[in-house]
Amino acid sequence: MDLALRVPIADQRPRALLHGDFDGRQRPSFIVNVQKCKLICYAVMKLLCILFFLMVPCLLAKDPVYVVLWFDTEDYVDPISDDAALRIANDLTKLNVRATFKLVGERARVLEKRNRVDVIRALSHHNIGYHSNWHSVQPVPAVYLKQLGMLEGEQEFERRELAGALDVKRIFGMMPICYGQPGSSWAPQTYPALRHMGIPVYLDDGSQIGLDDQPFWYDGILTIFNLGQYAIRPDLDHEQENPAIYRKFAADAGKLADNGGGVISTYFHPTEFVHTEFWDAANFKDGEVRERGAWVLPHRRTPAEAERCFRILKEYVEQAQRTPGVQFVTAQDLLQLYRSPIPPPLAKEKAARYLKQQITFARTDAGDWSAADLLLAVLGLPPQVVDGPTARGATTYASATIPGWLFERSRKDAISFINAHHRLPSQVFVGAATLSLADFAATAAAQVLSPGPVLVEHGQIGFEKYISTDPKGAFSWPIHPKGFAAPELLDLARLQAWTLKPARFK
Ligand SMILES: [Zn+2]
Repeated sequence: MDLALRVPIADQRPRALLHGDFDGRQRPSFIVNVQKCKLICYAVMKLLCILFFLMVPCLLAKDPVYVVLWFDTEDYVDPISDDAALRIANDLTKLNVRATFKLVGERARVLEKRNRVDVIRALSHHNIGYHSNWHSVQPVPAVYLKQLGMLEGEQEFERRELAGALDVKRIFGMMPICYGQPGSSWAPQTYPALRHMGIPVYLDDGSQIGLDDQPFWYDGILTIFNLGQYAIRPDLDHEQENPAIYRKFAADAGKLADNGGGVISTYFHPTEFVHTEFWDAANFKDGEVRERGAWVLPHRRTPAEAERCFRILKEYVEQAQRTPGVQFVTAQDLLQLYRSPIPPPLAKEKAARYLKQQITFARTDAGDWSAADLLLAVLGLPPQVVDGPTARGATTYASATIPGWLFERSRKDAISFINAHHRLPSQVFVGAATLSLADFAATAAAQVLSPGPVLVEHGQIGFEKYISTDPKGAFSWPIHPKGFAAPELLDLARLQAWTLKPARFK
């Protein structure tokens, strides 16, 4: 039908006054405009509603909270620990949770000898890490590394520990993704050795080094260590404590979710579920050495007690799974969730401003730079992983200024050293005298900011506060010889902290 035929007589006006057809009727322009306004308002309201509903999840969304659940799988003395590891791995698989099992080399070899294919297969559904070759048989890592410098120590760690990592690789079909020291036997020489061995993550707990209770990069290794309040685990022996621990878990997860997300670290040893004492404390206390034939079995829990422990782990995992925004991750997952240790490029002048203020890492929204990264940028070197210096160099250069041509020679020498060794020099020569690395870095930064006569600056190091100052307490472990302290290892750790910086999610 022709719509024009339906136009009422009263509305029969000159075409110019009509504003087009609407619902079969021609209307005056002001009526049509009102109608149009209503339509626009309706559309805008509808759009706002859609936007609101789209934004609700964003407003409610919190930053991610990841729980890394790991098991130091180390008891090669009592075969009942094989069954404990099997049970835990299977329970977690049923709960759809992947954990990280850090195996001692001898533990893996013993599984192979006992033909526990079932255990090897069950653990292989999870991540496989490494937990040293012999764990508690002397000398343990901090004991044999204490007297060694960075370079010798790196080689010695690899000489003693690589074989065990390769055994784990042979038996489980994959190179371990992470390493963690036995007990508190931590040492900085481990880090460059791990990089060389192809193990990219350090996963453990301890107090030698830590950065704001969250993961960090140290010597190019993603380090999940010393998470402080975010190291949470249920109590296997005092079950009545667990409701409070679960409440703390929820509160801490909420705190992380409100502050950019983060990691909660939870760890056990399969042996804890079936023994009332540690297998190594029963045999190797206070540095004791004992022939294999003389090893004794640790005291076992009753089957009912063991069942209670397995149940507590299951309950802990289930309460974590019920906590909004929380998910379980492996060491491998964390490696993928965090940005690379290679920082984005940084303008020379910006890097110089950070270093001139204080020699420490820079944490910004655009990226994070360790003191080493900043020095590389000041020197015009591309971002890359380098080791820290091997010694605390000294400044022997006595004048307050350095001729421009002479400092340029020092700068080129430092660049050449870094390119040759992928390591920062301990000091940089200025003629026959030296500048400590900190003074060289501060002087080079000042020179970038105000070219001209080179004034010797004294660098203020800010990153050493992240290393423990308690050489006895930090290495306290029943297996270390009585009274063991390793101030030398903490000194080396301070030097390697040139490479320290926070880890940041992608
Ligand atoms: Zn251990």
